[in-house]
Amino acid sequence: MYRTHTNGELNASNINEEVTLSGWVQKVRDKGFMIWVDLRDRYGITQLIFDEERTPKAILDNAQKLGREFVIQVKGKVIERTSKNPNIPTGEIEVLVSELTVLNEALLPPFTIEDETDGGEELRMKYRYLDIRRNPVKEKLIFRSKVTQAVRNYLSKENFIEVETPYLIKSTPEGARDFVVPSRMNEGQFYALPQSPQTFKQLLMVGGLDKYFQIVKCFRDEDLRADRQPEFTQIDCEMAFVEQEDILDAFEGLTRHLLKKINSVEIEKFPRMTFEEAMKKYGNDKPDIRFGMEFGELNEVAQHKNFNVFNKAELVVGIAVPGGNSFTRKEIDKLTDWVKRPQIGALGMVYVRCNDDGTYKSSVDKFYDQEDLAKWAAITGAKAGDLICVLSGQTNKVRAQLSALRMELAERLGLRNPKEFAPLWVVDFPLLEWDEETNRYHAMHHPFTSPKPEDIKLLDTDPGKVRANAYDLVLNGNEIGGGSIRIYDKTTQSLMFDHLGFTKEEAKAQFGFLMNAFEYGAPPHGGIAFGLDRLVAILNGQETIRDYIAFPKNNSGRDVMIDAPAPIDESQLKELNLKLR
Ligand code: ASP
Repeated sequence: MYRTHTNGELNASNINEEVTLSGWVQKVRDKGFMIWVDLRDRYGITQLIFDEERTPKAILDNAQKLGREFVIQVKGKVIERTSKNPNIPTGEIEVLVSELTVLNEALLPPFTIEDETDGGEELRMKYRYLDIRRNPVKEKLIFRSKVTQAVRNYLSKENFIEVETPYLIKSTPEGARDFVVPSRMNEGQFYALPQSPQTFKQLLMVGGLDKYFQIVKCFRDEDLRADRQPEFTQIDCEMAFVEQEDILDAFEGLTRHLLKKINSVEIEKFPRMTFEEAMKKYGNDKPDIRFGMEFGELNEVAQHKNFNVFNKAELVVGIAVPGGNSFTRKEIDKLTDWVKRPQIGALGMVYVRCNDDGTYKSSVDKFYDQEDLAKWAAITGAKAGDLICVLSGQTNKVRAQLSALRMELAERLGLRNPKEFAPLWVVDFPLLEWDEETNRYHAMHHPFTSPKPEDIKLLDTDPGKVRANAYDLVLNGNEIGGGSIRIYDKTTQSLMFDHLGFTKEEAKAQFGFLMNAFEYGAPPHGGIAFGLDRLVAILNGQETIRDYIAFPKNNSGRDVMIDAPAPIDESQLKELNLKLR
């Protein structure tokens, strides 16, 4: 038996017991006549003591040779500590060692295995198995496990069944590039890894399994932004015989359960907002509503006043920054530079100081009098002591820019409290989205999303205006889930493919199986998928998903620990009938 107790378990009630412990050597303090060792495992740290008077000499000698991260087993007696450590559960006791076995020696780790480590991120990724020994990483993985278990329990109780769908499939159109896998047995042919189980879960509905879920890996070959991973996990769900309201209800229930169980936060009813309203008020389809700073559109009061920049803009829009009048001129200039950076791309920023005495001082005083500026303040909701920041330009662009500024300022002003949770359903997304690059419409969600019946007539005349039965669940300014009510008849589905520019042949080749299935009695259905990695991070008050993935990839999509991707042998290439250029 390697251990009778874990290293997080023993306390004063165990004094005088003979115990066996195993674990890693965290720290050795060697005073010559007395040695203390901190022994660590997943559960905690227990202090071991070896001393000249009570420990046999051979064992003391061996203890002297222990190095950091050696794996050892000890037997000994639990005794009361002279200097207690109230910060850890085992802090009242120590184990007087009578037997010591080195189970495995260890090389000196390349960084310290402590809560505060000296290792840089790349190095820790390379030795991820060592990083996982550290509390902050370990605790995040344990937290993730708690969340996934709560999800499974809840959905199972609600009568969902967990079904696995295949990974070797063909392209699912979620808007990213596919990862492809060559087939040895089918020369010149390739599988695609699923960007999501979308088509399979719809087929499960045709199959009659009317409540499905799966905690599942999805693969998308995208350029990696800071917080994306090429493989990530979804809580993927689908239901049959449901309308949008049923889905929102079911998954609001799941999210409410998680917030309560994991964070002890109770939220009665999640607010809802249409996509249009979200864009107008926050310039963003995933607004963080933990703080105000709603957009105020100023066209009516700011145009036709000789200020040409505003006159020729499609949209003039501002936000009131609470307490922002305390910013120095230099700080405001810096903010202006910030919005002018190419990543944001604003041409400039107009500001209005709202003085305590009720007067205004703006960067465009030449064109606007106090009365004008008072109107701006009324529209943006600015109060004395605030600063109004105004951007102008093409509607979509300027909204995105002001949204970025809003988030940045909220971050700087500490308005994004990670302990506060503000979920929001964003509904009525547009069905289609114009793509400048390819000069055509794309499905905003995916091609299986149903248009709102009353909008179908707009498909020919004003496709951009067609709304979909599509929704996102937003939590603290992050999209944590998204889904839709699906098309379930062949006619609408092929109409949709037409509008997305698929020829009949292409549609048949790519999605013939789904269209066929729809001819055998497809029930009305819809679903949603949550991004598990992000959901877990946010529930834990963080925003980076990488920490919540046991073995994540770096920003270039590499696993630096196993060194993948990597070239393959000539013989393997040959077997796969592949030739490299
Ligand atoms: N498959 C969709 C996605 O990955 C989710 C859904 O529509 O259920 O975003």
